[in-house]
Amino acid sequence: MTLVKTPPPLSQEVDLSKTYDAVVVGSGAAGGMAAHVLTEQGMNVLMLEAGKKLPIEQELRSMQWPYDHPRRGDAPPGYHSLSFNEYTIRTPPYAKGSTFKHVMSYVGGWGGSDYVKNILVDEKDHPFTGTKYAWVRARALGGKTNIWGRLALRLSDYDFKAKTHDGYGDDWPISYADIEPYYDRVDRYLGISGVKENLPHLPDSLFQRPNKLSFGEVRMRESLKKMGRVLTPYRAGVTTDGLKHNKYRSKCYGRGACDRRPGGCDIHAAFDSPTGLIYPAMDTGRLTIRTNSIAHEVLVDPNTGKARGVGFVDSGTRKSYEAKAKVVIVAASTLESARLLLLSRSPQHPNGIGNSSGHVGHNFCEHVMGPGVTGLVKDMIGKPPTLDDGRPGGFYIPRFRNLKERQPGFVRGYGFEGSGGFSIFPGNAFGAAGFGAQFKKDVRDHAGAFIGMGGFGEVLARYENYMDLDPEEKDAWGIPTLRFHYQFGDNEKKMCEDMVVAGREMFEQAGIEVVGTDDKMLTEGWSIHELGTARMGSDPKTSVLNQFQQSHDVKNLFVVDGSSHVSASCQNPTWTIMALAWRSCEYLAGEFKKGNL
Ligand SMILES: Cc1cc2nc3c(=O)[nH]c(=O)nc-3n(C[C@H](O)[C@H](O)[C@H](O)COP(=O)(O)OP(=O)(O)OC[C@H]3O[C@@H](n4cnc5c(N)ncnc54)[C@H](O)[C@@H]3O)c2cc1C
Ligand code: SF4
Repeated sequence: MTLVKTPPPLSQEVDLSKTYDAVVVGSGAAGGMAAHVLTEQGMNVLMLEAGKKLPIEQELRSMQWPYDHPRRGDAPPGYHSLSFNEYTIRTPPYAKGSTFKHVMSYVGGWGGSDYVKNILVDEKDHPFTGTKYAWVRARALGGKTNIWGRLALRLSDYDFKAKTHDGYGDDWPISYADIEPYYDRVDRYLGISGVKENLPHLPDSLFQRPNKLSFGEVRMRESLKKMGRVLTPYRAGVTTDGLKHNKYRSKCYGRGACDRRPGGCDIHAAFDSPTGLIYPAMDTGRLTIRTNSIAHEVLVDPNTGKARGVGFVDSGTRKSYEAKAKVVIVAASTLESARLLLLSRSPQHPNGIGNSSGHVGHNFCEHVMGPGVTGLVKDMIGKPPTLDDGRPGGFYIPRFRNLKERQPGFVRGYGFEGSGGFSIFPGNAFGAAGFGAQFKKDVRDHAGAFIGMGGFGEVLARYENYMDLDPEEKDAWGIPTLRFHYQFGDNEKKMCEDMVVAGREMFEQAGIEVVGTDDKMLTEGWSIHELGTARMGSDPKTSVLNQFQQSHDVKNLFVVDGSSHVSASCQNPTWTIMALAWRSCEYLAGEFKKGNL
């Protein structure tokens, strides 16, 4: 086992007097991929990132045992993480009037808030208004990829051609065949672990070594086969065999730190944008990064209406600057990208840049989650402990509804994420009765016998679910904030009811005793899989971008993150975000070389 410890490359000097080939806004999965592809193609790129560059290994401390931390991982006094009740009973802006000095999203409340307190935004500085929404934002180099859950799944033509399949919504302007070669490249370049299953609705990746399933998970897998369903080891965006071409990342050696939910992997076996994409791009000598740079406007050439750069404010000094570029790539994450487009009003683009269709901010979609099942695998009670959490994830049960048959009550589908077996901290200790030696024995005996899973379902894209700019509210830098007009509909509610029924049925079929079910839908936004505010399409009247994530209105403007997604599917989006960004940036570089932008 070799632990890679290569320091980050030295940054290039930022030169705002020069016109870069491209400016990229945001450094997460999408921005990182744009930087990688464009620099490989020979373009000189300036990346603007609103957050800081953190000494990330010191933040994550993945090897720290709970008892080595003075507060068992909790942030110091003065920090507060929003709860489910706060999100649902109150209305945004949630941190307004809070007596706490710092307020974080619910992710901080998972236990381990100290490890994410500098990565998640302080809700006090970043308000938003409108309908309830659990908005998780990470402002740091690498964005949310520093702490993402790494479930890395492909979409299929059940998703890209969903309207053809069931009549709802719109098809994407691409099919699986268009994106498949780019999924392959993402797999090879970044590494992914998993097992081939040959499913038409969940295409296989080019997998590295898979994680082992625990005893209860294997039992479920065998039982589900008889039901015509699949339980597969967690498809993790993690390199388990190592990546010879990347000197910044080690291979996973299963330390169990993934089990600490506000995750992060300080040896970078799990993909994160800085070590996976940005540092290699810096090594080309063609990437310059300016952190602490909050973009607030895509600047426009008044003569051509084309983008000419980006206006930004330094988060520390609050001074305003302009970055000049021949092409502008927006990759600030779905909601922030929509905000930036809407903020970029000019005589040429009075409704915001790229928004002649009026669709920017609309057709928002994501995943609904909450319902789940907990079970007890009785054969495991009293068995000696095994290292079940020394792996980047448990299992995934792909969608099984509305594939061949038609499910009454709702369209589309959902998958389950789950895990079973021993973990670093026995979760059952909280619920076990008793005290003293008998209590400890009871907790130990049952610690490896629990298995649980929760559903992630597709939220339908609807024009009437949208975000616009609040006319009054501003963030700490005086930039207008987003106002949400968004709520789940009947399809999502019916789907969630079915998750509980189907989850229970699968456990019972496997001989696993159901000890708890949760039928609560979590607040809108909880999945952190926000998508679709600047969707792709062939008709400029009903879509914002073409199939290469290029603005229909402004040919040198690209939006390469999840805002381009036409529908949410039920699969986690990050691998698709990166495959699409790769495809679009390759096209962009080709057009740039031909002088077409
Ligand atoms: C706890 C957690 C678990 C997750 N689990 C999974 C999972 O298992 N599977 C999965 O597929 N996805 C998962 N996700 C979601 C995944 O992280 C996102 O899909 C992915 O990071 C999106 O990439 P992005 O580049 O669009 O956005 P981000 O990664 O958020 O990056 C956007 C960047 O843009 C910057 N930015 C924003 N506004 C501006 C501005 N105005 N100017 C300059 N910069 C700006 C931000 O600071 C940020 O660094 C998870 C996320 C979290 C937080
Ligand atoms: S289990 Fe692997 S991916 Fe997860 S934190 Fe540990 S080394 Fe990183």
